[in-house]
Amino acid sequence: MDEKKEKLNSDEMYEELEQSLKNSGHDFDLGRVRAAYDVAKMAHSGQKRKDGSDYITHCVAAAQIAYDMGLDEDSVISALLHDVIEDTNLTHADIAKQFGTAVADIVEGVTKLTRVQYTSAEDEQMENLRKMLLAMAKDIRVILIKIADRLHNMRTMEYQSEDKQRTKSLETMEIYAPIAHRLGMQRAKWELEDLALKYLDPQGYKEITQNLESRMTELEAFMSSMENRIQKRLKEENIESAIFSRIKHVYSIYRKMYSQKLDMNGIFDLCAFRVIVDSVSDCYNVLGIIHEMFKPVPGRFKDYIATPKPNMYQSIHTTVIGAEGIPFEVQIRTWDMHRTAEYGIAAHWKYKMNSTSGIREGEEDKFAWVRRLLESQQESDSQDFLHNLKIDMFADDVFVFSPKGDVINLPAGATPIDFAYAIHSDIGNHMVGAKVNGRIVNFDYVLQNGDIVEIRTSKSAPGPSRDWLNIAKSGSARTKIKQWYKKERREENVIRGREIFENELKHAGLAPADVMDEDVLPQLLKRVAYDNINDLYAAIGYGGVTATRIVNRMKDELTRTQKPARSAIEKMNEAAERREQQAKKETKAVHGILVEGLDNCLIRFSRCCTPVPGDDILGFITRGQGVSIHRTDCTNCKKSLEQEENAGRWIKVSWAGKITDSYLTTIVISSRDRSGFVMDVATVLNGINAKVRSLSARDIGGGMALANLTLEVKDLDELNYIISRLRTIPGVREVLRNGTGTNLSSEKEKKG
Ligand code: MN
Repeated sequence: MDEKKEKLNSDEMYEELEQSLKNSGHDFDLGRVRAAYDVAKMAHSGQKRKDGSDYITHCVAAAQIAYDMGLDEDSVISALLHDVIEDTNLTHADIAKQFGTAVADIVEGVTKLTRVQYTSAEDEQMENLRKMLLAMAKDIRVILIKIADRLHNMRTMEYQSEDKQRTKSLETMEIYAPIAHRLGMQRAKWELEDLALKYLDPQGYKEITQNLESRMTELEAFMSSMENRIQKRLKEENIESAIFSRIKHVYSIYRKMYSQKLDMNGIFDLCAFRVIVDSVSDCYNVLGIIHEMFKPVPGRFKDYIATPKPNMYQSIHTTVIGAEGIPFEVQIRTWDMHRTAEYGIAAHWKYKMNSTSGIREGEEDKFAWVRRLLESQQESDSQDFLHNLKIDMFADDVFVFSPKGDVINLPAGATPIDFAYAIHSDIGNHMVGAKVNGRIVNFDYVLQNGDIVEIRTSKSAPGPSRDWLNIAKSGSARTKIKQWYKKERREENVIRGREIFENELKHAGLAPADVMDEDVLPQLLKRVAYDNINDLYAAIGYGGVTATRIVNRMKDELTRTQKPARSAIEKMNEAAERREQQAKKETKAVHGILVEGLDNCLIRFSRCCTPVPGDDILGFITRGQGVSIHRTDCTNCKKSLEQEENAGRWIKVSWAGKITDSYLTTIVISSRDRSGFVMDVATVLNGINAKVRSLSARDIGGGMALANLTLEVKDLDELNYIISRLRTIPGVREVLRNGTGTNLSSEKEKKG
């Protein structure tokens, strides 16, 4: 729009800037600003712009724009100095020394943005670039000065090569105009868009501007007649107002033509009116009057006063149709709202400037405010790129470049490992080194916004190290590393996993045996969703699951379904205690008999069945004579068990482990009655050293004799041996123990 030849003298331009500062009503330190001008002029001396003017003119122009935006003194100074770090010998330290670190930081910030190379044109990439720029600019003034810089460069773009015009315009359209919009800077946004369109679609731009020019007289007549009519009416209603009219900016017409597939003649509402009043209540009064004067177009009324846009914009919008049938838009707002609409976020400094302390106060507060603004933008109803806008300028993300110029978005604190895996798992798995901005860095280097990251790979790389899991910041990198371990290192994982698992068991007070029990293990594995124990070890080994988690689940399962899990130590103690008690009982055993639940009770061995160690036995609680011990196959015992009144008196008894006593037992030998029979028995018993207590024989008639033999034996084995030897004696028919079968003698004895 600005067609003036700008081959200006920088000093004259500076005088103009100084005049604006003087007239601003704010307390600009003119000496400090002039010092900045002098330093910049000196530093850039000899440098020329493409149009032939001194480079410093660009710096002064940018400073003027910054001032016009409403920025503060440090911003104006920073704008003057914005290219000295990039293009001259001056350093951050030099600037900090003379103008303070705030200015030096801003200039350095602008320099960093300037160094960012935009090569990709993918949509997603553009959004990442916008975010990257916002993230890089730790101080919002960096972005605002960058916009001022870009605006001036766009205004003077005609001197650049066609190629440069195109790339710069694309950047402007895709990155800087959206950022200006995001920051609520309508004016800068419009101008950037129109200038960019001029180079991106010269034909389209020309068509619109020429059409507008040809209709200018008509449009201007229309606008001034409307202005007058509205003005007159508002005066009658005693409303103080200022009315401005304008032709809509080129790019907005251009977009409308394309989105609605109209040609220029189909676009009617080319004009917009703005009514600025003193109070909010006047805004609504004006709205009522306008709607009374003209027919409103349904669905075009928007009240951004009641519901401000996320970028703080407030106004009432309505579209009406004039008497001539031409629709036009009216925006109604207060002066405060107007300033915010024009300068957006920059207007913030205007408010702040009114307080004597300037903007230095409450740095924190300022950021919070910006953050709120940007965060709230995701709820925007705006149809353009504002969807999908979760921007956190200062915290959660870092944006870096691949060598090809793609912007990779990583979590703050990310390392080259995260970067490598973000590109591709293969890159990560074969990574052997990393370079950032051309320099070799360690794998734990923390990436900074705007870094260019290059990963060196090798086919023979050993694969990710386990340390990487601690270094990587992004979940996706960690997942990919774990996947690699899962696949490539199963055996190692199993061994490692087992070790970790068993350690964890120990911590949890469990022994491997508790879990490995073949009755229990399948159930435990089912509970933690693994098919077999090696799969589980492998998973723990590669880090797919934590041992703590698994062991806790297993513990739960054990508690739920089994006896309470006992520690190895508990178990050991219990076993020891059991043995000890066993040992105690043995000393308490009477005649080698343990009676369940009773210590030291009186024991007798029944004479009816004379049990010996090795016999199955039961105890009968007698009245006053202790426990009488019977063999379970004893006839009396069996009979007694069938009698109800005795049932409760039978108790379990057992032989003690170690028996040193010997026991008396009786056997009965039936034989043919022959001479020498008793002699033969005695000879056999003597031959095997049996300890005989008594032996008696008698004739029972029918050629048969019966011998009762009472022996002292150690146990059943010895007894059985003796019995087997007795059976070899000629004439012997049967050798039986007493108490079983037809044992007349025992019956007799009992009765006796
Ligand atoms: Mn510049």
